[in-house]
Amino acid sequence: MIRGARVLTPYGLLATSIGIAGKHIAALGRNLVGDETIDAQGLWVLAGAVDGHTHMEAPAFGIQSRDTFESGTQAAAAGGVTTIVDFTVASGGTLGRDIESRIAAARRAAVDVALHAEVVGWRPDRADEVANAVRLGVRSFKFYTVYAERSDPEELKDAFRAIAAVDGVAMVHAEDAEIVQTASDGLSREERRSANALPRSRPAVAESTAISLVAALAEWAGVRLHIAHVSSEDGCEAVRRAKTRGVRITAETCPQYLVLDEGVYKRADGRAWSVIPPLRTPTDREALWFALRDGTIDAVATDHCPFVRADKEVGDNVLEIPCGLPGVETLLPILYSEGRTRGFEPERLAGLSAEAPARIFGLSPRKGRIAVGTDADLVLYDPERAWTISAAGLHRASDVSPYEGLAVRGAIVSTLVRGRSVWADGEFVGVPGWGQFVPAI
Ligand SMILES: [Zn+2]
Repeated sequence: MIRGARVLTPYGLLATSIGIAGKHIAALGRNLVGDETIDAQGLWVLAGAVDGHTHMEAPAFGIQSRDTFESGTQAAAAGGVTTIVDFTVASGGTLGRDIESRIAAARRAAVDVALHAEVVGWRPDRADEVANAVRLGVRSFKFYTVYAERSDPEELKDAFRAIAAVDGVAMVHAEDAEIVQTASDGLSREERRSANALPRSRPAVAESTAISLVAALAEWAGVRLHIAHVSSEDGCEAVRRAKTRGVRITAETCPQYLVLDEGVYKRADGRAWSVIPPLRTPTDREALWFALRDGTIDAVATDHCPFVRADKEVGDNVLEIPCGLPGVETLLPILYSEGRTRGFEPERLAGLSAEAPARIFGLSPRKGRIAVGTDADLVLYDPERAWTISAAGLHRASDVSPYEGLAVRGAIVSTLVRGRSVWADGEFVGVPGWGQFVPAI
């Protein structure tokens, strides 16, 4: 039993105890008794966050992201993230094979893991593979409109119809490949030495153009569409227009786009912030907060894909360096701290970090909310503890934090996954392998 806390339920912040039996929440109420009691006076209890977008031990840019499922899920535990939704690695074989091998790769996870199936190269027999993926517990399918992995509109049309037929979700990395190519071609060798080339090579119009296209295809196919990592005001506008038309579209943004801006690329060490889409202007940053407020953007995920500093310091051409930032451990403190200063109610923040991603990706009602019968994935959170983010104090495998020096108010005290403590008082207390694959329904 957890006693004395203020509990963040979908109905608001309640003064209630939480009874846990085995792996589930068994009761909410004032007069509960338990064999074992956690005194949480002065703390909040949040639903464990569901990070809908992570890349653990993922091949990228010719190397591999620096967190394994084992190390990355320990960082997740430290950050109050009790479920990650990672991606299969498209092998050229069937989606089912990709799913099985990725579940095996995640066997030493410390928190729960769900999966999106990465789809590279559509072909007619993929429709059966999509149906099989749903049987295996994967209901969201990731497409790119850019990179070598991209699908063209003709492929997306067929793919979206097949996914609509099983009520799946098409998740898209939306950037227009031709605009990115043209913008990149326009940069001289000299210009490509500077990290400033990153936002210039991938302008916001590339994002909004691709979102508009895939939204039109999704409307035609009747499929649920989810836009990954929206980074710009133009991108928000494209999502908003589609929502107004009644397209079944949801969108996420990431902490990096909510608190950082492209000013860092002018620094001598600007490469450390390489990420795709790139960081944008302060105007874009504020437009994203507005889009969270008005419901244009539904969820906040991290796109956690850590590299060490040295990985990004190779070569003269910034357009060829590994891109990606760590984030799973700092998602909640940043979102709650920055969100509260901007007037967001805590239950709205819980919606963005837990309830919405769980609902969008088919993990509700097990995940994402505090209610009787749900998994006991809980975070004891001290809303007042002030601290400063520093890579040295974090727990994932990277030697750099994009948020170095950011002062936040609010800290994770402990994290439970299915009733078991995995993080307490600054220490990992879970076990590799406690995390389970969570099938989407
Ligand atoms: Zn990603």
